[in-house]
Amino acid sequence: MRDAQLELNLRALAHNFKRVRELAPNAKVLAMVKAEAYGHGAIVVAKALADADGFGVAFLAEAQALRAAGITKSILILEGVFTQEEFNQAAEIGAKVIVHQPEQLVFIEQYRGAASADIWLKLNSGMNRLGFKPEQAASAFQRILACACVRELGMATHFAQADDVESEQTPTQIATFNAVYAQLQCLTDRPILRSLSNSAGIVSWPEAHHDWVRPGIMLYGSSPFENQPADALNLLPVMTLSSRLIAINSVKKGEPVGYGARWIADRDTRLGIVAIGYGDGYPRHARNGTPVLINGQRFPLVGRVAMDMITVDLGDAHVELGDKATLWGEGLAVDEVAQCAQTISYELLCKVTSRVTRKVKA
Ligand SMILES: *Cc1c(COP(=O)(O)O)cnc(C)c1O
Repeated sequence: MRDAQLELNLRALAHNFKRVRELAPNAKVLAMVKAEAYGHGAIVVAKALADADGFGVAFLAEAQALRAAGITKSILILEGVFTQEEFNQAAEIGAKVIVHQPEQLVFIEQYRGAASADIWLKLNSGMNRLGFKPEQAASAFQRILACACVRELGMATHFAQADDVESEQTPTQIATFNAVYAQLQCLTDRPILRSLSNSAGIVSWPEAHHDWVRPGIMLYGSSPFENQPADALNLLPVMTLSSRLIAINSVKKGEPVGYGARWIADRDTRLGIVAIGYGDGYPRHARNGTPVLINGQRFPLVGRVAMDMITVDLGDAHVELGDKATLWGEGLAVDEVAQCAQTISYELLCKVTSRVTRKVKA
């Protein structure tokens, strides 16, 4: 039987969440569950993270899905809403919205419903993706203050390279944020809540924790830093992707393996065929030598990744048909596999496809 499966370890998730609490003891935690909780399943994860103070999603439909599943905690919509109707719906389900451009201010001003709205102004502190520029922030904020429907006031920004502790960009972003915050706070007696830190910020920039931190990748047990493995940060993998050996064949030295003959046997050896491929979300660009774990032992991927299968060089190791092969997760860090495929763990975790069987390990 083909047995490609994705297993979630909810204990690991709870452990990683506790690590966030340890690192940012005075902040509330907005657990990022956008993109199906980085491929883990937003509802499963949100239900498991009973201690989180709230959840972060990218857009309205993701917030609605959480509400429909019975999640009643705070939800922040990071890209905000795109139409008046969406704003009305966000207010109705009590989702907090980010406002990052003037067009979104109009939705608040024109809101005629009875609900109150929690509005977070997004500052572009230097990433230059979303947000008001520092010099635009005060006038945008005045317009928010003038709206009777607005209840909670917040201010957020996002770091571009908090994963690089040497970089000058993060301290510059923090200083920009602090200056604009001071300016806005002068405009009102109501508190303005602050949120800056993603996972890298939580670990490396405690001065940027403030009211709410926004951990994503670290909750799922992967490192936000290129040069620091997840276990050094005491994070545990939540997702384990595995399948089984469906064939073992021998090849002679000089024989090519797989599409395009990307690998040629450098000696007489045995090949293991594992039933997983890019049709399951295993990265097609994984290079020769990418580790695959079989019975606790690492074997190198050889030859091109196909849609349904990959090939590993078994040498004369003792393995059998049907043995379990771990592609990443427990025993093999997704970060290492991502590096071998010239990408980041985020992408691998997000891209596991629906034909992979999902299981939850309580
Ligand atoms: C995705 C996201 C995060 C989480 O980032 P990680 O690096 O996964 O911790 C935080 N804030 C915003 C605005 C995001 O889009």
